[in-house]
Amino acid sequence: MNPFQYERASSVGDAARKLGTPGAKVIAGGTNLVDLMKERVATPSTLVDIGRLALRAIEPTADGGLRLGALATNADTAREVKDRYPLLAEAILAGASPQLRNMATNGGNLLQRTRCYYFYDVATPCNKRTPGSGCPAIGGQNRIHAILGASDACIAVHPSDMCVALAALDAVVHVEGAGGRRSLPFAELHRLPGTTPELDTNLAADDVIVAIELPPPAFTGSHYLKLRDRASYAFALVSVAAGLTLQDGKIAAGAVALGGVAHRPWRDRAAEALLAGAPATHETFARFAEAVLKDARGQGENDFKIELGKRAIVRALTVAAGGVA
Ligand code: SF4
Repeated sequence: MNPFQYERASSVGDAARKLGTPGAKVIAGGTNLVDLMKERVATPSTLVDIGRLALRAIEPTADGGLRLGALATNADTAREVKDRYPLLAEAILAGASPQLRNMATNGGNLLQRTRCYYFYDVATPCNKRTPGSGCPAIGGQNRIHAILGASDACIAVHPSDMCVALAALDAVVHVEGAGGRRSLPFAELHRLPGTTPELDTNLAADDVIVAIELPPPAFTGSHYLKLRDRASYAFALVSVAAGLTLQDGKIAAGAVALGGVAHRPWRDRAAEALLAGAPATHETFARFAEAVLKDARGQGENDFKIELGKRAIVRALTVAAGGVA
């Protein structure tokens, strides 16, 4: 591990100021960043510890939604949301291990970095770690990599389960930085790789995530389906967060986000229009799945994800509609 300065922030404003130091990184639970530092994948000049700031509250909002503090742990959050937002609880509990969920924070979950093998191996090139050095996953070992939204520079996938559910729930991310407070729709938080795969999000270096806001619950049924190589403590090959609002046996609205397939949680709102007003049947779900994956492209070892993704979407929507898949 490289030497670094450690500074404890006394307020969010103080954290934002300290994060203005070149090479500074924010730390809270540290469940991803410390691993990256041990492997010399991340070499921050300064760690700005926000772990003692008052950002742990999980509280109702005036419009009937819920505000999740950025420093609430994943474990506490899953427990608090399980009755009103079961989709989010399922997704959080599908991730990591109990020990990690007790330590990992909500803000950190949103900022965790890809688990691409090459990104973690500093003996190999990687455009995300060292811009311009190349992407050995293209034409290399890419079983876990992207089938949607990838670029010639990077085919990595976003690793979070929680974020897939937050995408389907249309969450809003509240941020505070040197320039003040602002809010981003969840869909605008994470980026596709394009020519700048080193950037995972649209946040500035001095932005601190302070909370995640959920709108009032809207789904009559939902399901988080995670398909992976072993039953626990493994990242998704494909995951699906599916939420449906059913009225008189028809779909009034549907929201579906995919994990394990792209550089950010993947939603296709044009395809979701196929769900609105349609009967909640296998045929509707299969037509929707074909539309979502129509532009999917495999990289060789991960070609199987295209068919897996279609089947996972149909299964998740079937369960969300109250059926047995
Ligand atoms: Fe690096 Fe992205 Fe290529 Fe993985 S897929 S080696 S993270 S550039």
